[in-house]
Amino acid sequence: MCPDVQAEAVMRDLHCAHARFVWNLAVEQRSWWRPGRGGAPGNAERMRQLAEARATEPWLREGSSSVQQQALRDFDHAMAAFFDPENRAGRPGFRSRRGPQGFVIRDTKVRRLSRKWGEVLVPKCGWVRFRWTRPLPEKPGMARVTLDRAGRWHVSFPGPQPAVQRTPSGTAIGIDRGVRTALVTSDGQHYRAPRISDQDAARYLGLQRRLARQRKGSRKREKTRIAMARITARVTDRRKDWAEKISTRLVRGHHVIVLEKLNTPGMVRRAAPKPDPERLGAYLPNRARAKAGLNRGILASCWGLLSKRLADKGAASGVEIVSVDPRFTSQQCRMCGHTVPENRDSQAFRCVSCGHADHADANAARNILARGLALADGEPVPARARGQAGVRPRKTGKPAAGTTRSAA
Ligand SMILES: [Zn+2]
Repeated sequence: MCPDVQAEAVMRDLHCAHARFVWNLAVEQRSWWRPGRGGAPGNAERMRQLAEARATEPWLREGSSSVQQQALRDFDHAMAAFFDPENRAGRPGFRSRRGPQGFVIRDTKVRRLSRKWGEVLVPKCGWVRFRWTRPLPEKPGMARVTLDRAGRWHVSFPGPQPAVQRTPSGTAIGIDRGVRTALVTSDGQHYRAPRISDQDAARYLGLQRRLARQRKGSRKREKTRIAMARITARVTDRRKDWAEKISTRLVRGHHVIVLEKLNTPGMVRRAAPKPDPERLGAYLPNRARAKAGLNRGILASCWGLLSKRLADKGAASGVEIVSVDPRFTSQQCRMCGHTVPENRDSQAFRCVSCGHADHADANAARNILARGLALADGEPVPARARGQAGVRPRKTGKPAAGTTRSAA
């Protein structure tokens, strides 16, 4: 989005600030709730309170009431997600002036200026130009405007996920989260996820050190923070692009996609501390691990993003996405089912029982595929035969040739 100076001021200082303020009030109100104290105010009650606040607070009245009301609805959605057992969303927390900002426009009006440019009507700002990068939903009901930490404005128009154009192949594929590359498929393909470049990592870590020395709230510190956010944004953009491309390619090519069940909180760990051999209980700086840490975080988020996009696109395109328990998939022999840690020697897999040799991650991906297919068919999985399950013809009835078994 390219707001002019005036529109940007209104969007940042009015809409974003009010949406944040209203959201934080809702969080605070909620935090007073204790068991046995009666319910926290519901949506209707809060809307009434908001109207009252607007009547008494002139600065709040200056803003758009629909932006403020939508912030309350956002909060309700966040609370619903928090209580949803299927959802991993955490408890909605306070929003900071320094975090990403945003607000929602309802009853969106959009007009097209050219092939690349469009305009959206923002309350109290008028028409604001934006880059038209993809087809919009027929009737954009609402638009979400966001200001990311790197200072870039975006507008998105939520709509249903369009189906991926595909020719049904009837094939199934298993995907393993690799150690070196981001993912390895059961047909032996490796896909690398974007990583932070050495140059960016060095700059980022330098900036991080500088930030630690700068006075809180100072202008220079803010500059450092923006420079850091720009680097992060660059990596985030490449990561999103990667997840979109890979998920489309996988959904286009396969009928069933089997993934590991994700355990996101366990995926990003802190760099292991490095004890100082000279002094007991002291630690050496482990900056060398810091870049690895950055990359680990990026890899983990690539995975989360990819599995989400696969789920979205799969559901829209009639592709079955199956999640399986990944335990021991890296130790289990695909041919005979023998499962011991000795089978695994870093990147190589060699079964100590039958001698089957394979790339370690590809072997794991094939195990994942077999488990997924067993699940999809609703059959109990005998422990011994798990490694043996091949590809059965899927609903299309086409033979699933060349999907799993490589000439090992
Ligand atoms: Zn074996």
